[in-house]
Amino acid sequence: MQTVLSLNNVSKSYGSIQALKNVSFEVPEGAVFGLLGPNGSGKTTMLSIILDILKADIGSFEWFNQPGSPATRKKIGSLLETPNFYHYLSAVDNLKITQAINGRGNNESIDQALGQVKLLERKKSKFSSFSLGMKQRLAIGAALLGNPDVLLFDEPTNGLDPVGIAEIRELIKELSQQGKTIIMASHLLDEVEKVCTHVAIMKRGVLITAGPVEEVLAQEDIIEVAAQDLTALQLALKDFPGISSIKHNEHSVSVFFPAGAAQPEAINQYCFNHGVVINQLIPRKKSLETKFFELTND
Ligand code: ATP
Repeated sequence: MQTVLSLNNVSKSYGSIQALKNVSFEVPEGAVFGLLGPNGSGKTTMLSIILDILKADIGSFEWFNQPGSPATRKKIGSLLETPNFYHYLSAVDNLKITQAINGRGNNESIDQALGQVKLLERKKSKFSSFSLGMKQRLAIGAALLGNPDVLLFDEPTNGLDPVGIAEIRELIKELSQQGKTIIMASHLLDEVEKVCTHVAIMKRGVLITAGPVEEVLAQEDIIEVAAQDLTALQLALKDFPGISSIKHNEHSVSVFFPAGAAQPEAINQYCFNHGVVINQLIPRKKSLETKFFELTND
């Protein structure tokens, strides 16, 4: 698969604050790539660098394996801040202004973009009559002018209610199905887990991990086990072969194994042989949220 973007040892400081430290990763074509990190971890700085808004101190990046080629810029649509749409103008008139400013696409592409964000039927409605979700969809529509192959979004669901968030999630999935590569910075781990194929986790300017979501999450197997007497259960499981760690929860015990090593049947048999009858045994996937807090907590 082709690489759409590669970063090589990118660093950036603002005076004494080092916002990015030797960051390298690759974004494959067709990925929905989530950039995750606590506030101030460098996500916006990174998006600004790859969009040529800021210059890296050292390091380099390449779009489509072509260093610094202006022709490739037309293939990239972005939404870093909500555009200043005119409240008293319609959706279509607002996009005409955006198009005149950024020179992407034509009238046909405005209708195409409005169709992609499901606002074609409301194209003549005033911006002021739109819900927050619709306003954000129009902003994404502006990024879609000229039908770019790659889309960059900074916190695309910021400030939206759950319905608006779900709308944007569906839209991102649809754009991905149309073959677009999407790079998005987000705080919403649950959202990232629902839509992203790949993820990079940042902390204070350092890239902690990057790769396909399932690889980032699948470094261990977790089996949640419960029995009448949790203390006896934990004691029995303590010496179970191959276990990497064990955690006592309120109503169960979580047993951790290296990826691919957990055998629920063997656990059941082992506990029974040690006088503990299991009343619940559930293989669990680690959530991105758990992984994120593990990686970014001090
Ligand atoms: P958030 O999620 O809060 O938007 P972020 O992950 O996008 O954060 P950045 O905005 O890239 O992080 O900021 C990274 C670091 O650089 C922070 O410590 C921030 O205070 C600092 N920083 C960002 N922009 C500037 C600037 N123009 N001048 C000085 N420091 C800055």
